[in-house]
Amino acid sequence: MNRHTALATFVCTAISIAPFSGAIIADERPLYGYSADSSRTERQWEDKLRAIPKPENLRAYMQRLSARPHNVGSPYDKDNAEWILAKFKEFGLDAHIEVFDVLFPTPKERLVELVDGGPHFVAKLQEPPVAEDPTSNQQSEQLPTYNAYSADGDVTGPLVYVNYGVPEDYEELERRGVSLKGAIAIARYGHSWRGIKPKVAAEHGAIGCLIYSDPRDDGYAPGETFPAGPYRPKDGVQRGSVQDSGQYMGDPLTPGFGATPDAKRLALKDAFGITKIPVLPISYADAQPLLAAIAGPVAPRNWRGGLPITYHLGPGAGKVHLKVFANWDIKRLYDVIAKVPGSAYPDEWIIRGNHHDAWVNGAEDPLSGQVAMLEQARATGELLKAGWKPKRTIIFCAWDGEEPGLLGSTEWVETHAEELRHNAVAYINSDSNGRGFFGAEGSHSLEKFINDVARDVQDPETKLTLWKRMQLEQVAHSDGSTDRDEARNRADLRIGALGGGSDYGAFLNIIGIASLNIGFGGETGGGIYHSIYDDFYWYTHFADTDFSYGRALSEAGGIATLRIADADVLPFEFGDFADTLQMYVRELKKFGKDQQDEIKERNRKIDEGAFTAAADPKETYIPPKKQEVPPFLNFAPLENAVESITRSASEYTKALAHANENGGSALAGSSSAEINRLLIDSERKLTTPQGMPGRPGYHHELYAPGEYTGYEAKAIPAVREAMEQKHWKQAEDGIARVSRLLNDEAALISAAAEKLTAAK
Ligand SMILES: [Zn+2]
Repeated sequence: MNRHTALATFVCTAISIAPFSGAIIADERPLYGYSADSSRTERQWEDKLRAIPKPENLRAYMQRLSARPHNVGSPYDKDNAEWILAKFKEFGLDAHIEVFDVLFPTPKERLVELVDGGPHFVAKLQEPPVAEDPTSNQQSEQLPTYNAYSADGDVTGPLVYVNYGVPEDYEELERRGVSLKGAIAIARYGHSWRGIKPKVAAEHGAIGCLIYSDPRDDGYAPGETFPAGPYRPKDGVQRGSVQDSGQYMGDPLTPGFGATPDAKRLALKDAFGITKIPVLPISYADAQPLLAAIAGPVAPRNWRGGLPITYHLGPGAGKVHLKVFANWDIKRLYDVIAKVPGSAYPDEWIIRGNHHDAWVNGAEDPLSGQVAMLEQARATGELLKAGWKPKRTIIFCAWDGEEPGLLGSTEWVETHAEELRHNAVAYINSDSNGRGFFGAEGSHSLEKFINDVARDVQDPETKLTLWKRMQLEQVAHSDGSTDRDEARNRADLRIGALGGGSDYGAFLNIIGIASLNIGFGGETGGGIYHSIYDDFYWYTHFADTDFSYGRALSEAGGIATLRIADADVLPFEFGDFADTLQMYVRELKKFGKDQQDEIKERNRKIDEGAFTAAADPKETYIPPKKQEVPPFLNFAPLENAVESITRSASEYTKALAHANENGGSALAGSSSAEINRLLIDSERKLTTPQGMPGRPGYHHELYAPGEYTGYEAKAIPAVREAMEQKHWKQAEDGIARVSRLLNDEAALISAAAEKLTAAK
């Protein structure tokens, strides 16, 4: 999973740091959360660490791990896990494999044929080997092209082109009088997580769904296609999961608990998240004859893709026969876990993870991130040999089963929920890695922390700091003067919230563990995502070909992990957090106002007859119906709660500054253990034990993947989604619930500030 979620998501701003060459110039100010003495020692270890990772090691790891297809359940998936285990041990870490048994369907029967309305055509559903690319011919081990967790089915119906297949697209179809009842939807990839497409199609009465990759989006329009260039060739197909994880993430047979070998499982018929209709992904070579056989109104301008045909909406005239049947088997997952015990606080855990399973050979997704983490683990082992002892426990996790639905990480988190609730300080994730800008998303109490890390690592191409390069990129590209001013003047660059799409999900959304997702990207284009062409040949020709950004990820991940593990007082900061909350509440209020204005304006146009008058009478046009204007919601409880957080945050900042006086000996004192317990709890406080309404597997009330966007994060999701769905009572309940959590959070921050003020 995880298409570029890690990329360039710092959203904005400040303090200029002179460009440097060579080693980072040590800053005289102590690190955040460190006394002057511990800061000096820490910087020495960090300097040792940053010198260790070597690009040639990353390259060798990737070549070995991507040598054969290694999807869940394949022999090479297990082989890779055992190899990673041996590596962890070779690095001197205490490692083991933890297994889980999960539902993982694989294709048994797949058929797409045009039976009516054009010349008979049978889709190839096959990616051909490419002569130059030595692993592309491993056909006996490649998973055929499919969408995992599609319902079984054998359906025939007229085609309707639904653009990206997101809810707005169906509003447009409704205006045009195009119905999906009894039809097969054909959607293009993009603009939402893929599982949303069959979900929304089924809600509109479709009986089947095809998803294709349009060349405008990641094929010949943006660049040369593989093997001449990095973009999607005509037969390339994006595999991927379509599991509906709106309620629960993880294994569909064990929602809310670990899929250990002895777990009591749901019956297959009760499995969570299977689509309502059969769905299959296809290439643009296979899509073209199908799209060409669609008649009816011509598609709106921005719906037209890059194929040399006229895009029509349908339904029909072409009729498609779609057949999808899977082997519904239980497969074994192999999570590889390595522990470095903490010397002072062994029951405070910093967890660093990246998945190892892929859809096929998976050089970019996930190995480009996995090899950076492995090299970080090697560097950690080297530091231990040199006498370093982390204060806190560090756990490296090479996850299996991420691609089907975050299975390996979710099942591990569910199995160890109690320990994690007590022990986990932070989770740091990475996934695919590329060339370009550093990106970070995550919990806003760690926003300052990850900005500080980015200030201390050098960008391999420009030799600026990662931070400075990001800041200048935002200055160069921000649309408005407000964003540009913020990029120039705010102390820290804003980080985006975490949505869905990689292994941080369970840590953040089930337990409420402060989490970060990090990686590089923005300069590696391509269209091999989840195809057989995402392999070593592609990566070493078109992506981070010299592994310099892989090495930088080892360094950034290494420093981030080390710095939390060794801090006197954990590097949580609440000023940025409060500022983000202020922004979220402003956004919610603005959204409510925009909703009112839009509906008022639309109702007025309907009264004026504007829609009907503007439409071509010779074409079908159904004007929208009048809607009730949304009520004003009372955001005051939320505004007051955020005000309290802002006050507590500034108390905490003052207390920390005070504790920093005279070399900061108060930070290293005996009360820091108690303060750290409060800080660890600060993210837990943002969760509701019973989960959000209708989403029992999602407990975090500030961030969650959208139920109708999938990848994209929704801020204060229970309120936002209730407003989007026009459930006003539910929105007000959400406001009350989130306000209570935030008031408790403010009290916790104030308590931490008090203890810090009293610390000696
Ligand atoms: Zn991935």
